[in-house]
Amino acid sequence: MSGNAINAAPALRGRLLLKEPMARHSSWRVGGAADQMYVPADLDDLRNFLGQQQPATPLLWLGLGSNLLVRDGGFRGTVIKLAGVLNELQFETPDQVTAGAGATCARVARFAAEHGLGGVEFLAGIPGTMGGALAMNAGAHGSEIWDWVEFAETLDRSGRLRTRRRDELDVAYRRVALPANEWFIRARLVLPADPARAAGRRIRELLARRAETQPTGEFSCGSVFRNPPGDFAGRLIEGSGLKGARCGAARISEKHANFIINEGGAHARDLEDLIRLAQQRVRTEFNVELHPEVRIVGEELQ
Ligand SMILES: Cc1cc2nc3c(=O)[nH]c(=O)nc-3n(C[C@H](O)[C@H](O)[C@H](O)COP(=O)(O)OP(=O)(O)OC[C@H]3O[C@@H](n4cnc5c(N)ncnc54)[C@H](O)[C@@H]3O)c2cc1C
Repeated sequence: MSGNAINAAPALRGRLLLKEPMARHSSWRVGGAADQMYVPADLDDLRNFLGQQQPATPLLWLGLGSNLLVRDGGFRGTVIKLAGVLNELQFETPDQVTAGAGATCARVARFAAEHGLGGVEFLAGIPGTMGGALAMNAGAHGSEIWDWVEFAETLDRSGRLRTRRRDELDVAYRRVALPANEWFIRARLVLPADPARAAGRRIRELLARRAETQPTGEFSCGSVFRNPPGDFAGRLIEGSGLKGARCGAARISEKHANFIINEGGAHARDLEDLIRLAQQRVRTEFNVELHPEVRIVGEELQ
């Protein structure tokens, strides 16, 4: 190498998308464009990319967008999309699974079952990634992901990797307090043995129960609100007479009132209007404050 060589930034190997419509990356199919989106090739590439970002550039980490509402004006900053990358799964005998943040929840559930492990059957019906599940403490049927996490690995803006255990993170119902500018890249799960090999059957039962009680197959983000202590958001919204209520092409589901459906062509604005309407009516009827579980980000359309 010549004496004039400078330390050039390593070439990026991932995919950079400019002005990327977030509606393509959201299970609600709404949302304006992000300034840029980066899909890293692997962990080294992601660290290189982060090292090349201005410290002030806002970053939004994205899995499958199944719990995210990006407003119609889009996101001023960079979206890092992990779904489909950093998605390795590893079985570590006798009772551990390591799952990359980009692996889908459904794959993790099936992988554990195939290796004779139980505990995470509930993940089969959650249409997100492990990263999103760790960030939201996703759960169903009385179980939550952090019940099974021995530790998670995180990455920060400077490329530093850390190991985080549950007691370092203030984990609660559908909420995890991760330090700013730190994100999940993988987790180690410790799971109970399933000697009877019943996990596969249980997965099928839970998926069937879901199809009976939830509007699967429509554009939604699952439950919009967290359940208030001792009650159910869906019961309160239904009790406020809001089943079937609409704003534009957004509608409160008749099947499950905590779901808001995009019938096709809804704007993020319509969904937010319905969210506010449900909050107001439940406040008036029941004196209960509903808090969205879904994360709302980005700019209003000017
Ligand atoms: C039909 C349907 C049913 C659902 N059922 C359930 C259910 O039963 N239980 C349940 O808990 N949820 C449910 N959900 C909601 C959703 O699937 C979960 O919250 C899921 O864990 C989100 O994962 P995701 O990859 O889609 O996250 P995204 O929606 O992409 O992101 C959600 C949040 O996590 C952050 N995030 C994503 N990846 C990372 C990362 N690697 N590190 C740090 N932060 C990150 C994002 O910035 C964002 O704030 C449902 C959704 C739908 C559409």
